[in-house]
Amino acid sequence: MLPAADSLAGLVALVPAPPGAAICTASGDCRRVTREEARAIFQSGKALVAHTAFVAGRLKAPPAQPLYDVLELFAFARPGQPMVPSALGLARALGLEMPDTPEGAARALFSVAHTLLDEMRDLPTDARAKLAPLAATLTRGGWRWGPLLQPALALETPHGSPIAGMEAWRSLPQWEDEAPVGTPGTQPVTAGEVQARLLSLVGTPRPEQAAYSDAATYAFGPREEAGAPRIALVEAGTGTGKTLGYLAPASVWAEKNGPGLWISTYTRNLQRQIVQEIGRLYPDPAECAEKAVVRKGRENYLCLLNFEEAAKRTALAPDQRGVALGLIARWIGAHTDGDISGAGFPAFLAASLPLGEITDRRGECIYAACPHYRICFIERAIRRARHAPIVVANHALVIAQAASDWLATDQTSDTPQEKRLRYVFDEGHHLFDAADSGFAALLSGREMAELRRWIRGPEGRARTRMRGLEERLKDLIADDDEAQHALEDAVQAAGALAGEGWMARVTGAAARGPGEIFLAEVYAHVRARSDDRDRFYTLEAEAQPLGEETLRAVMELSLALKRIADPLTRLSRLLRKAMDEKSATLEPYTKARLEAAARGLDRRAKLVLPAWMRMLETLETGEISDDFTDWFEISREEGRDSDVGFERHWIDPTIPLASEILEPAHGALITSATLRDTGGEGLDWQSAEVRTGALHLPQPPRRASFGSPFRYEDQARIFVVKDVPRRDADALAAAMRELFQAAGGGALGLFTAVRALRDTEARIAQPLADAGLSLYAQHVDRLDTGALVDLFRVEENACLLGTDALRDGVDVPGRSLRLLVFDKVPWPKPTILHKARRARFGRAYDDLITRFRLKQAFGRLIRGPEDRGCFVILEGAMPSRLLTAFPEKAPVKRCGLAEAIGDIKEFLG
Ligand code: SF4
Repeated sequence: MLPAADSLAGLVALVPAPPGAAICTASGDCRRVTREEARAIFQSGKALVAHTAFVAGRLKAPPAQPLYDVLELFAFARPGQPMVPSALGLARALGLEMPDTPEGAARALFSVAHTLLDEMRDLPTDARAKLAPLAATLTRGGWRWGPLLQPALALETPHGSPIAGMEAWRSLPQWEDEAPVGTPGTQPVTAGEVQARLLSLVGTPRPEQAAYSDAATYAFGPREEAGAPRIALVEAGTGTGKTLGYLAPASVWAEKNGPGLWISTYTRNLQRQIVQEIGRLYPDPAECAEKAVVRKGRENYLCLLNFEEAAKRTALAPDQRGVALGLIARWIGAHTDGDISGAGFPAFLAASLPLGEITDRRGECIYAACPHYRICFIERAIRRARHAPIVVANHALVIAQAASDWLATDQTSDTPQEKRLRYVFDEGHHLFDAADSGFAALLSGREMAELRRWIRGPEGRARTRMRGLEERLKDLIADDDEAQHALEDAVQAAGALAGEGWMARVTGAAARGPGEIFLAEVYAHVRARSDDRDRFYTLEAEAQPLGEETLRAVMELSLALKRIADPLTRLSRLLRKAMDEKSATLEPYTKARLEAAARGLDRRAKLVLPAWMRMLETLETGEISDDFTDWFEISREEGRDSDVGFERHWIDPTIPLASEILEPAHGALITSATLRDTGGEGLDWQSAEVRTGALHLPQPPRRASFGSPFRYEDQARIFVVKDVPRRDADALAAAMRELFQAAGGGALGLFTAVRALRDTEARIAQPLADAGLSLYAQHVDRLDTGALVDLFRVEENACLLGTDALRDGVDVPGRSLRLLVFDKVPWPKPTILHKARRARFGRAYDDLITRFRLKQAFGRLIRGPEDRGCFVILEGAMPSRLLTAFPEKAPVKRCGLAEAIGDIKEFLG
């Protein structure tokens, strides 16, 4: 027995448990300690924890030095394996006994550490030898687990490089280009084929599922008229078996006609679930990976060049960032697809290393000029998607491509070039919101600074690779004087944009250049017209009318932007001309670089800058288009100004959705459990057509709806509680606490405002802990929402607080979610944009949005035929007309809190 496990002897495992923590020694002595004692242990450097940042947040004390974090050990020992970042989650991942108290969780941390250390010790000799250089590098960075792994991995192995073991890219395979796939075919899909496929997927389908597949098949028939795609709007209540229902016709179509099928959903989590369902079509994992490819936006993938440069920088001064990079190196080497939003990525490392540093967020990719181009994860994903019969994407990506990347014409494009595409928009009720963000335009300090950096490179103390246009293009245009002049002009003109550190100058009366002067005017304009200029949240103000100074700033900036766009356009034209003239002699590598550079220039010169100029022109003329709403905004995060800008949104974003995405396609299935409003004003299908863009298409959609097979009369109870006083934080917190306790946990509290959420969390964390219920809270705990929901899911009796928007990420079948409480009726906020939409769509618009929110939230509660759940709204003034959001058979009761608590205890008991 090697001494690794014994080395844990001096450690104290620590798990937060309000008001302090539960601790446990290696010999198994466990007890509760106060927060002060917990802090002292946490900061002693001898603490064994799961998720340092989370524990630090709970104890409200930063770690004084690196700790023994078992998540890090897990990421090293089992790279790429999904886990929930807690003692419970790790115990489950390792097949250990699941703890059910904080003391048990603290004890479990030792079991987890022992198991992982033993695993490393038991690795074959060659595997240990391979890991030794990385472990040695991590140890130099101060990794606490390094010395404990020393006996197992023989860390005395000499290393030649300061980043030994981090060069994980060296083992990555290269992608290969393949011949273009051509446009999809137009062979019809027959009802017989679809039913046979469904049969093979589910055995004997229920009649509703078979009928659903049948209705969905309409979207996969041959188009009959140019510009008139076959749109099927199909609503299917929870439990219908929607995913396999549409996979039946979609997969038959893809086999006969593909590639060219894009299945799009709202969240990345849902993408994962769809891929799991596709596994039924292709049970062999290798075949499944080839046939169904997940596509996400570039910012979701690790950029190997950024990673390498970050690793080299950290080699100069090894630290916790270096440890994070080393663990990411392990993940890279574990046959990953490079998706940092995927299940196997150790997302907890974001606390030590901003993930933006290792992704391609700023469009600085240098494509074929990059030494990692042939192994690049993004390039590989794009190519795989181009050849895969089924692509699983998300609405944001599909819309972003259509909105901003349509100029691309080359092989490095993310855009689905092929026409005759077929789409399945699952969670189709989110299309409106996705189009709203995807087709919006923003002229802000952040955006300007990013464009300036892209053109001029870093100008401050930034230590990134961002090199600017000059560095990227100089060898390509070395023999072209005209192009060099254009480049010089662009670099000089970009000095008019807001630059690094702009926020301090804009808010401190020291603005420099037209961009910052415009922002300073916007900042003053918004503050002057706001009632509460020092409030915690984002401020906005109508843009018109403008003061004289502001108008002058608008005109100056408008001219400045034109001065940037002109040379960029010229430069792009010259690059394309060079490609054309030298096409016979150009190396493929140089051609790819020229193409990528021209595309990047076009995107800025023909899309971004003209959109900004059009916005400014509206301010100059005062002519406001009927299609848009404009406003000025000061964005605030946690009470601090984070951006200042000018926003433009479509009042009806489904207009571009229809023209840019639906119309060019040959068919689309838009499906969801909540497509139609169920208000009493005859909206019904009309609401679905309005919110999906179907209304703007020449051919009416085919519609169908299927009710849920669930017995809501037996499975659900809805309560409208009448006696919780509004604006009484104590009463609201007490109501949440009592309701959560009545359900014995498994409760989700949704709030319409962050402040109310925080106030409630502060009041109920302790009493819930005393009752043995753990509480997690968005905006309080330092975890992303995915991790919070994972923690909530894995602990059957946990409670979770979040804002109303959290509901979209919550997919928690079974007992872990049995009570859902809204603090108020989730009315839409009366923002400038919302008011414009209400004016366009009528007063019923508020009700429609609210009913959708309630409907979607209710849909989270009952996910399976055995689920039972209670839904509570703590606002007696909830209008009866909103109750149509709930299934007809679900019993609704208006009553006092005490009665609701009694009923809930009995119902869930
Ligand atoms: S090709 Fe671009 S995204 Fe890929 S590694 Fe290189 S710079 Fe990063």
